[in-house]
Amino acid sequence: MLLIQNGRVVDPARSFDGVADVLLEGERIARVAPKIDPSLVASGADRFDASGLIVAPGFIDLHCHLREPGNEPAETIETGTRAAARGGFTAVCCMPNTHPVNDNASVTRFILDRAAATAAVRVWPIGAASRGSAGESLAEIAAMKDAGIVAVTDDGKPIATAKLLRHVMEYARSLDLPVIEHSEDASLFAGAVMREGPASVRLGLHGMPAATEAICVARDVQICMLTRARLHVAHMSARESLELVREAKRRGLPVTCEVTPHHFTLTDEDVVYDSRYKMNPPLASREDREALLAGLADGSVDAIATDHAPHTQASKEVEFDRAPFGVTGFETALGLALEALVHSGRAPLARLVELFTAGPARVLGKKRLIAEGEPADLTLFSTEHRWTFRAAESASKSRNTPFDGRSFRGAPMATIVAGRLVWRREK
Ligand SMILES: [Zn+2]
Repeated sequence: MLLIQNGRVVDPARSFDGVADVLLEGERIARVAPKIDPSLVASGADRFDASGLIVAPGFIDLHCHLREPGNEPAETIETGTRAAARGGFTAVCCMPNTHPVNDNASVTRFILDRAAATAAVRVWPIGAASRGSAGESLAEIAAMKDAGIVAVTDDGKPIATAKLLRHVMEYARSLDLPVIEHSEDASLFAGAVMREGPASVRLGLHGMPAATEAICVARDVQICMLTRARLHVAHMSARESLELVREAKRRGLPVTCEVTPHHFTLTDEDVVYDSRYKMNPPLASREDREALLAGLADGSVDAIATDHAPHTQASKEVEFDRAPFGVTGFETALGLALEALVHSGRAPLARLVELFTAGPARVLGKKRLIAEGEPADLTLFSTEHRWTFRAAESASKSRNTPFDGRSFRGAPMATIVAGRLVWRREK
């Protein structure tokens, strides 16, 4: 038993915002009330004084790479989820581009078994849409659903053809699974390492235009219209893509999208010859970033997702052209979101909480709220705590982040999963 006292409970799913106590019993929330008399709670109950802190539903990350099986030098389910816990995440969805690819039930079961044995937070695997994510034939989607996947994707690239996407979406619809698309046109993307524009010209690096993403989103929305399956646009970076998602939503289509913290805080003007600024999709223009921030504030964007993509030092410490795409992201996500949305005055705190909780839950067809009987997953954070992120102190095995040394106002303070305190900030 755990009694969380005096925190400000912010629960967007119930439109609740006020000081309250929360009692956790076993793996569930037992009670939420303005004041719970500790003398009425069993004497063995632990207490957590959350005075001055926000008590939010447990954060969900829709998009991360845990690298296990196959690339354990970069990350494991254990180290990745420890980093996730430090970022306030209580559940993370891991992408299927492991080695082997998670395209069948035995890999899904392996991931869940490893998670049960080693993970600090819940791990919700995402299955490949096509066999080997090779874009030719369907993966074993139904068997993976039975084993525990929560969505399908060929992340790293889009589902190869409109015909295969149609097939995947028809299948996913019958299984009530969302299809997550890494939207990019391969022909426009070929050879690119950053966004095309004045910055790429100045650096002499091969760029790709915003249309690379939007062309694919347009295709995906058309197939969504045809199949009525749930479509989720991953790590969206361009204003034009957001407009397509907005239009799809206006038409009542089941289309959702996510944005990463690096895309709503950095732009292509920040790119230097340092592979910690190389990710896919690449950092976009200032106009794109402003559009994404507006979409996060007005509800057009459904979730903040990290796209935590760890890489070993050796693989990243090469010429910009040769380095793999991707940056780590669990531990800096909340600090960046508070800065860009709340402290800037762009969005109220409840909206930020929604983007980390009820929003991503909805994408997966789940709920996320603080109420009696719900899973006891909670994220406790401060909007004011001052701290500096040091990549060397990260729980992740990898250090490939452009935010090393960045100072923040606001931080995750404690992470509770299934009624257990899995991490607590010490300083
Ligand atoms: Zn991707």
